[in-house]
Amino acid sequence: MRVDLHMHTACSDGDLTPAELVQQAAASELDLISVTDHDTTDGVRPAQAAAADVGVRVLPGVELSSTHQGREIHILGYGVDPGHENMRAHCTSARRLRLGRMEAMVERLGEQGLEVEMAEVLAEAGSGAAMVGRPHLARALVGRGYVDSIPEAFDTLIGDGHRAFVPTLLATPAEAVTTIREAGGVPVWAHPPMEALDGLLPELLDAGLRGLEAYRPGWPARRQRQLLGRAQSLGLVVTGGSDFHGPGRNGGMGVFWVRGSLLRAFLEEVGLVQE
Ligand code: AMP
Ligand code: ZN
Ligand code: FE
Ligand code: FE
Repeated sequence: MRVDLHMHTACSDGDLTPAELVQQAAASELDLISVTDHDTTDGVRPAQAAAADVGVRVLPGVELSSTHQGREIHILGYGVDPGHENMRAHCTSARRLRLGRMEAMVERLGEQGLEVEMAEVLAEAGSGAAMVGRPHLARALVGRGYVDSIPEAFDTLIGDGHRAFVPTLLATPAEAVTTIREAGGVPVWAHPPMEALDGLLPELLDAGLRGLEAYRPGWPARRQRQLLGRAQSLGLVVTGGSDFHGPGRNGGMGVFWVRGSLLRAFLEEVGLVQE
């Protein structure tokens, strides 16, 4: 079984609609995927509807943004109920707070002589997006010719801690874990930064964290081993995925996937029996 538990659609900062994502997943011979958009579950039901026609299973998911000591921490939620009141409240307030945060980043860039209009950023997000985020801003900066590439935009201007970065401040990591649990989901720490692991784990475990994302393209084997070891010693499940954002990004669809047998404990936890 080929599994990808970390994928974005145009409902957040991905390039494909939920239906296109599912169709391409089927064409790429993936068996199980999860739609994990940033701070929105808008893509879940359209993806599930599209999956009914093809041989792909879609696990409802979300990737909640939170801020810890000025850096962004992402918590994945699997099997969440998209209609749960608290999940909807997070997504609704995220939409509003993200607009204000983007205005603050645009203002910072302007103070540094890099004029960019909010309208350009919103145009990059598109009408289908429920969130506006740094990848949209990065594309606007490339469009203006201030930087040559999206990685350069992050590395020189808008990456965590850089001169035009403003944190999302949507929640603390523990609050994100709690929201996911309240919505019936399994909270998993996405791409945990190794230097933040020990400091943050105790409070996340207290809040009900259930897993660590351990499989991800391009990670050194050592980091994967450390996360697998840590998960095992803490009784946490492990997950993995490509963090797919579009055909030309993160290596493309179906290039990276995780063998279902490596995810046995997770699949049991979300109630998916392994075939
Ligand atoms: P935001 O939630 O608006 O802060 O944007 C976070 C998103 O920006 C992440 O999910 C990635 O898709 C993207 N991102 C973060 N850091 C980088 C980076 N260094 N290079 C390219 N994309 C990045
Ligand atoms: Zn993203
Ligand atoms: Fe993330
Ligand atoms: Fe992601």
